[in-house]
Amino acid sequence: MSIKKDRVVIANWKMKLGLAESVALAKSYGEVFKDFKGSVVACPGAFALSQVAKTLKGSPIKVGAQNVFWEDKGAYTGEIPASVLTEIGCEYVIIGHSERRQYLLENYEMIHQKIKTVLNTKQLIPVVCIGENMEERKTDRRDFVLAHQLQQALGGINFLSGQQIIIAYEPIWAIGSGTAIEPSEAEYAHRVIKQTIKDIFGLPDIMSHFKIIYGGSVSSKIVKDFVGLEDIDGLLVGGASLDANEFYKVAKAMLK
Ligand code: PEP
Repeated sequence: MSIKKDRVVIANWKMKLGLAESVALAKSYGEVFKDFKGSVVACPGAFALSQVAKTLKGSPIKVGAQNVFWEDKGAYTGEIPASVLTEIGCEYVIIGHSERRQYLLENYEMIHQKIKTVLNTKQLIPVVCIGENMEERKTDRRDFVLAHQLQQALGGINFLSGQQIIIAYEPIWAIGSGTAIEPSEAEYAHRVIKQTIKDIFGLPDIMSHFKIIYGGSVSSKIVKDFVGLEDIDGLLVGGASLDANEFYKVAKAMLK
C-alpha cells in the first residue's frame, strides 16, 4: 500500500507523563518508528520538550509543543515563546486545545493571536483545535459553533506561500471518553470546516494551506474506520499515544 503523503498523525501526551517517563516514551517511539515513512509528531509537556527533541533527533518523529504564547519576551510568568520552541527544534504547536479552553479560559481571541505569532516564525505549524461540546451537539448547534470558532481564529490571517495550518476537529465530548465520533459524522464536520474556511478567505486555492484532522478517542481498534475517509487528513491522538506500540499501530493504519 502507498503512503498517504499528505496525512499527519500527532501524539498529544498532555500532562500524563513526568520528565523521565517522557524521555523513556520518546526512546520507545524512536525504536518502534525507526524506519517509518510518513508524518508523525510527538507533543510532550513543555518541561520535556528539550530532552524529547534531543532523544528523537535523527528519528522520523517530529516534535511539537502543546502551547505557545503570543508575545516573544516580557513579563509573562510561566509562558513559552514561539522563538524558544523553534530553538528547541519544535516544528508543530497545538493551539487552543479544549482542555486549555476549559481549565485556563483560553478563548478564540487568544487563539487568533497565537496563530499569527506562530505563522510569523515561518518555521512552526499551528495545530488549531476546534469542536463542539455535548450541549451544543444535542441542540444542533455544531455547524454554527465550528463556523464561529473558525471565523474568530482565522479571520484576517494572511498566509505566505507554502505556509500550513492544521485544523484539529475535536468534539469535546469524544476526547478521553473512549467513544470516538461516528466516522461519517466526522466526515460531515470536516466538510463544514472546509466550506467555512473557503467562505472566510474567498480564495480559490486556500485549502492548499490547510489540513483537517480528527481527534477524540481514536485507538488501534477503531482507526480502520477513519482510514478510508477522503476528507480526513490525519489524527490527533491522546490516550493511545502513551504506548509506543499502540501509537505505531494507529499511525501505520492511517499513513500507509
Ligand atoms: C486529545 O486530547 O487531543 C485527544 C484526542 O485525546 P484522546 O485521544 O485521549 O481522546
